[in-house]
Amino acid sequence: MSNEHSHAGNPASPPEDSAAGVMTKCVACSRELRSAVVCDYCHTLNPIGAPTDYFALLGVPRLFNLDADELRRRYLELSRHAHPDFFTGGSEESQVLAMTISSSLNDAYRTLSDPFERAEYLEELLGGPSSAVDKTTPQGFLDEMMVLQEELTEARLAGDHLALERHGETLRARLAQMMARVAELFADFESQLGCEGIRLECLGRIRRQLNAVSYIRRLVSMTAGT
Ligand SMILES: [Zn+2]
Repeated sequence: MSNEHSHAGNPASPPEDSAAGVMTKCVACSRELRSAVVCDYCHTLNPIGAPTDYFALLGVPRLFNLDADELRRRYLELSRHAHPDFFTGGSEESQVLAMTISSSLNDAYRTLSDPFERAEYLEELLGGPSSAVDKTTPQGFLDEMMVLQEELTEARLAGDHLALERHGETLRARLAQMMARVAELFADFESQLGCEGIRLECLGRIRRQLNAVSYIRRLVSMTAGT
């Protein structure tokens, strides 16, 4: 079996070739759906049609630079209409649909509300390389990290909590900087209309940056809980 892993049947996995912003119509009122599952007009729950991604589920633009408040508002509003308690007196089918949709909305919100998870998800959705395929990091990053990792290991072995705390602080600041760079790289990607080569280059840069972010996240966890 050379095929790495199949996403078939998993609504959480990004669809292979879904076009962003494809509108379907509400099964009840026939108006265009903004969220792929909950009608904004009549609040009818619509079956989860494949392919559906997290952005489409919540009915928010497929962008890294999302408004966090708007995302939360959107999630709460849709979840309210899909709450399984509303459907306890309904048919079994509607109860199952409400539960499925509620849990999908939860998954979508959990992923999209975390900037790192959102970046990883979007990178895959846009057709960028996965971290399993491309393990590279920005130039000079690993050399710099090797020194830091040695210092961290020493501090851990010595039980030097103060040093660990100091490293933790520095690393968290670094993480924030690096995520700001991720936001810039996604903005770059979004401004490149049309040219596939340049778009792929952008996705490659995002991949390298995310690999570095993920490395720093591991180091941050080394500074905690000792
Ligand atoms: Zn409707």
